Amino acid sequence: MTTELEAENTTLLQFLYACPAGLIEFSAAGDIGLVNPVAMGLLLPIAGRPFVTNLFEVMDGCAPELLNMIQQFAPSHGTVCDGHRIVTGRGGQSAVLACSVVKLTEDRYIATLSDVTEQVAREKRLKQAEVWFASLLDGIDDVAVLSLDVNGCIDGVTSSVVRQTGFTDADLLGRPFESFARPDRASAMPLPGEAIAVARSDGWHLHEGWHARADGSRYWCQRLVAVRDNSDGTTAGFTLVLRAVTRQGRDAADLRRMLTRDHLTGVSNRAHFFEAAERHFARCLRDGRSLALIVLDVDHFKQVNDEHGHAAGDTVLCAVSRRCEGELRPEDVFARLGGEEFVVLLPGATLRAAAVAAERLRLALAGDVFDIGGIGLRITASFGCSALDAGTTASLAGLLAAADTALYQAKRAGRNRVAVSEADQVAA
Ligand code: GH3
Ligand code: MG
Ligand code: MG
Repeated sequence: MTTELEAENTTLLQFLYACPAGLIEFSAAGDIGLVNPVAMGLLLPIAGRPFVTNLFEVMDGCAPELLNMIQQFAPSHGTVCDGHRIVTGRGGQSAVLACSVVKLTEDRYIATLSDVTEQVAREKRLKQAEVWFASLLDGIDDVAVLSLDVNGCIDGVTSSVVRQTGFTDADLLGRPFESFARPDRASAMPLPGEAIAVARSDGWHLHEGWHARADGSRYWCQRLVAVRDNSDGTTAGFTLVLRAVTRQGRDAADLRRMLTRDHLTGVSNRAHFFEAAERHFARCLRDGRSLALIVLDVDHFKQVNDEHGHAAGDTVLCAVSRRCEGELRPEDVFARLGGEEFVVLLPGATLRAAAVAAERLRLALAGDVFDIGGIGLRITASFGCSALDAGTTASLAGLLAAADTALYQAKRAGRNRVAVSEADQVAA
């Protein structure tokens, strides 16, 4: 009997170990019992250290809702969530995980984790394609078609291309197509080679943004790279379609606004923040100047929504944005990272200066009474600061992670306070 059980256990462990999905067995308190290598591979980068012992601790930064979902799941067993999406990391390093949790007993849970980053990107591209095809008749001024060889170099040009872009055959032939597109920075172009790589795997790649003409002027362009196959199925090359689009009723300033601004609060959006931050970061590094980040998160914001409604929450987010922008220098970049989390980039500022600015923001927010449909509402926020001069890191991602860690410390220390990236310097 014992041998039978042992054999069964061994089989189960072997399955767990070799399973292509990440599997984690944990207690109601989040303490991890069993974890297979795939899950470990997904959890370690989130944890940022070489070991993990508690699932809720690891997930606190990117999916704090997991703890709530599990605590609020009343049945004695069953599925707590199925394919819940968790976004980890930031910018280029961000990944999307799908997480399912099954409650086995009061104190035993199994979570499966899988990396669906590529799938999500593919869904996004499909959606983009739908929009693109739906807009076929929407104010298109001109279509230019080019032929590309298997490496993405231009090997055929029609007269429409010269008319649309101003570049001549001599400018274009033999050159990689990305080298003459020279789009505006605000349109966040895919990385060089990405369009070709995606077209190879999906059949096509679409992008929409500003493109430059030979004379330096720019136009809003929808760009399609589509694979051209040989009869035997191998890739013969690519077709590049450039469509100049006039957006009816929307001028260039509106378009720029759409690309760079958060739709709710009107402050810089996440994409624009990272774009501006990369630029400032490179410049400050080059000039030997410091640069600081402040990450702030409204305290107990969920309560605002729960007690006063989502619309009231939205009003608070707008008021917080206005208040913060009013307290900052014109050269500072204030952006909404998502939800009730904001970030400030302070070019030239030291860690000390960032802590002072954060304290000013903290006092301003804590002192305000927000008018929510006749009700006076007070809120507070917690702040985390990091800076280049603190010498902890020399990358933007590292700086952001340090500010995040400090913010987490401020939350842990009781909220409504400022913490800086060194653990022992909690101010206010
Ligand atoms: P903490 O002090 O730990 O930050 O607690 P919290 O309640 O602020 O944090 P939590 O992350 O638990 O909740 C954030 C809430 O913000 C949950 C979400 O519904 C809400 N939220 C996110 N985006 C928006 C938005 O655009 N509008 C509104 N009204 N609420 C939002
Ligand atoms: Mg919050
Ligand atoms: Mg938050």
